[in-house]
Amino acid sequence: MDPRVQQFMAMIKSRNPGENEFHQAVQEVAESLIPFIEENPKYKHAKILERIAEPERTIIFRVPWLDDKGEVQINRGFRIEMNSAIGPYKGGLRLHPTVNLGILKFLAFEQVFKNSLTTLPMGGGKGGSDFDPKGKSDNEVMRFCQSFMSELFRHIGADTDVPAGDIGVGGREIGFLFGQYKRLKNEFTGVLTGKGIEWGGSLIRPEATGYGVTYFAQEMLSTRGLSLQGKTVCISGSGNVAQYATEKVTQLGGKVVTSSDSNGFIYDPQGIDAEKLNFIMDLKNIRRGRIKEYAEKFGCEYFEGKRPWDIKCDIAMPNATQNEINEEDAKKLIRNGCICIAEGANMPSTPEAIEVYLKAEILYGPGKAANAGGVATSGLEMTQNSMRLPWSREEVDSKLHTIMQNIHTTCVRYGTKENGFINYVDGANIGGFVKVANAMIAQGVV
Ligand code: NDP
Repeated sequence: MDPRVQQFMAMIKSRNPGENEFHQAVQEVAESLIPFIEENPKYKHAKILERIAEPERTIIFRVPWLDDKGEVQINRGFRIEMNSAIGPYKGGLRLHPTVNLGILKFLAFEQVFKNSLTTLPMGGGKGGSDFDPKGKSDNEVMRFCQSFMSELFRHIGADTDVPAGDIGVGGREIGFLFGQYKRLKNEFTGVLTGKGIEWGGSLIRPEATGYGVTYFAQEMLSTRGLSLQGKTVCISGSGNVAQYATEKVTQLGGKVVTSSDSNGFIYDPQGIDAEKLNFIMDLKNIRRGRIKEYAEKFGCEYFEGKRPWDIKCDIAMPNATQNEINEEDAKKLIRNGCICIAEGANMPSTPEAIEVYLKAEILYGPGKAANAGGVATSGLEMTQNSMRLPWSREEVDSKLHTIMQNIHTTCVRYGTKENGFINYVDGANIGGFVKVANAMIAQGVV
């Protein structure tokens, strides 16, 4: 490791003990940025890297709620307000039992660069709770969301901090959170994104991350004269991002052969067509069942406790969670002929897996660039809320498509190496950094 990165990481680790995912995210960025900062000493003198790795504000709070048996339950709520140099804090809320401070800090840190890449005026934040929505009734989820918002409301606002969905937070949860915010503040503002279409939401927001990661894959493929047409695609996850990535890949002529959840994955060599995807959407969004049922319904194979990276594919889209592709998985993917990895999830590849991709010089689109379509469309939802005017489906989709193309162009600009290889990791990290860093310098030592 570069000794400058080593020294910087020693400081990060001693200030943030035990926050492994945060260390991982910061180190990846530091490896791209430290050489760039050496060449641009204004960032070094202003200590931008040290400042950008320290949240502006961290809020941790108690979330008590009553379950259906009348018993008191207690969870922990968080909001990390990471950086507001270029706009209000913006980033999702995650509800999952694994949630802790380190995971949310990694997500908030990534969000700063991602939001900058979108070209829209949004700072970075992230939040959530260790509450597990799985197996809870709608009423329990509502009581939890109301209690969570009863504290969070005093820290957020349409011009301050605008949360959205993430793992475990979809339309149902955003509805409960928004209802409670409106009741406490007595105002109807765009304080959350991912709202229902009848009450301030944007068309295409639910689709945006999945569509965006597919548009980004398309851009990467086009740099090698390739397209999605006829390609076999392995997708992990079966939630929001995975569902709409499956839809868009299929529309663009690719064949998606896998879908997964935290229990296992299904392999459907015929491809998950529109009708089968409808089944997954009903299973996951309404009935809240397990992906295993897909295999029973359509007569294909189900692999319990496994991830789909053994399956031969041209393109892999990890769309479930962090660190879901390790070094061994990455080697298997490449051995099986995979030429492109487009990350719908945040940090789904371990550092060792990324090394394997970069060494093989395949097309590798890291999450902070490839999945930025979700937050970009949240930004478009904020614009529509401010104007109090909705845009059509076509208008939002075309803006999303243009934003993904622009993010790709930025990555090419900052990531192209002497031999012509595009290192999208450097491209996204440096491209996302410059605007935030310049804004921080302009605003003084704050
Ligand atoms: P959902 O909750 O809708 O779906 C998550 C999917 O991943 C589910 O299939 C879930 O399975 C699976 N999953 C979650 N945790 C694990 C785990 N520890 N191991 C294996 N599988 C797991 O979330 P989203 O689709 O919204 O988010 C997926 C990823 O995309 C996350 O990394 C998120 O941060 C990222 N992302 C999401 C954006 C959005 O707009 N929603 C924007 C940008 C990034 P199960 O049902 O069994 O839990």
